[in-house]
Amino acid sequence: MKEPFQKALGIIRQLKQHGYEAYFVGGAVRDLLLGRKIGDIDIATSALPHEVMKLFPKTIDIGSQHGTVVVICGGTPYEVTTFRTDGDYEDHRRPESVTFVRSLYEDLKRRDFTMNAIAMDEEEKLIDPFGGQDAIKKQVICTVGEAKQRFSEDALRMMRAIRFVSQLGFSLAEETRRAIVENASLLSHISVERMTMEFEKLLEGPFASRGLSLLVETGLFSYLPQLHDKERELKEAAGYDWNLLDSRGQRWGLLCQALHIGDADAFLRAWKLPNRLIKEVKAVLLILQTIRSFGDWTKERLFVFGLEHAISAETVRSVISGEPVEKHRQILNEMFAALPIKTKNELAVSGKDLMEWFEKPGGPWVKEMLAAIEHAVIHGEVDNHKERIYEWLMDRNRIQEKNC
Ligand code: ATP
Ligand code: MG
Repeated sequence: MKEPFQKALGIIRQLKQHGYEAYFVGGAVRDLLLGRKIGDIDIATSALPHEVMKLFPKTIDIGSQHGTVVVICGGTPYEVTTFRTDGDYEDHRRPESVTFVRSLYEDLKRRDFTMNAIAMDEEEKLIDPFGGQDAIKKQVICTVGEAKQRFSEDALRMMRAIRFVSQLGFSLAEETRRAIVENASLLSHISVERMTMEFEKLLEGPFASRGLSLLVETGLFSYLPQLHDKERELKEAAGYDWNLLDSRGQRWGLLCQALHIGDADAFLRAWKLPNRLIKEVKAVLLILQTIRSFGDWTKERLFVFGLEHAISAETVRSVISGEPVEKHRQILNEMFAALPIKTKNELAVSGKDLMEWFEKPGGPWVKEMLAAIEHAVIHGEVDNHKERIYEWLMDRNRIQEKNC
């Protein structure tokens, strides 16, 4: 048995020894069959949450009313979920309540896609009542049961289908695809946070372009925040090589650029992104705007914007223009390495030094003088040493006095 499953085997065995059924389920089993990197290992069991908690010394109740208990085994947390069927779906979203059942089949039946509805026992035997292995072989994403009904129960599943296209490069089964087209508007019942999670996974997938095209072709894009009038731009965005990007900031930056978003703040807030990420994206967009208006990189600009944001902006720009990303990154790295100081904190003098040297109280002149020193240091006109800077300032003062 592969290493990550092996590590969790003790949980399955413990449950079985006490007369319960227990299986590996969900994404980990799918990824094992696909030969993909295995993420979180999930376990499904016939034991009720309080029974699970009794059997293991270290557990965390993260949602026992929904059947899920985290069991810590060898320092790793595993979600152990009681076999369940979902209660009534109200408003086309996740059900408020669930019903615990004692049958694995019922539990697999409530899952979204056939490839995600395969269980594996402790002997690596697969239990696959809905043809999940066949779907994996054929590379299709197909709902468990009637697609229209399954999407109507929980509309987020439509977004999940398309993010799996982007992650796996699979195609949508015909009925599944048709049902998305017919049910697209139900996505408006889903919370922004859940949509954003799936959308970000879509943008990160190796087949993101295909995922973006599908959002347009199925009409799902109309019900995503701020995208309803962006059909043409989304098609254009699908033409870029999203695999060249390597951070969330770059992805949202490229999206804002590709969609010609006027008010990035409002756009990113509509997706309910965290403040830190919004700040980062706005910094990247400001750099792109500055470079477009004032020309290429200077030492000063690189110093002011910082290497990380500069590289992000340059990556976005290269992806849009189709220029080699690596070359631009290298140029920036070299330019940054050659800067005598990388941040303001590294400047060898402070405002206090200036006030002492000139025997003057603080005021706007301090900030101006620090800026002049910073400029001179960055451009190599003076070394970043206290005494050198002092001499340079005195020389500069003498020249200025002479000119008056
Ligand atoms: P990932 O690798 O992104 O974690 P995953 O398939 O494990 O993919 P999760 O969101 O972690 O996805 O969900 C775990 C499992 O729970 C899925 O494989 C699927 O069986 C089931 N599942 C998740 N969300 C839904 C849903 N909205 N409707 C039905 N089943 C779902
Ligand atoms: Mg998972």
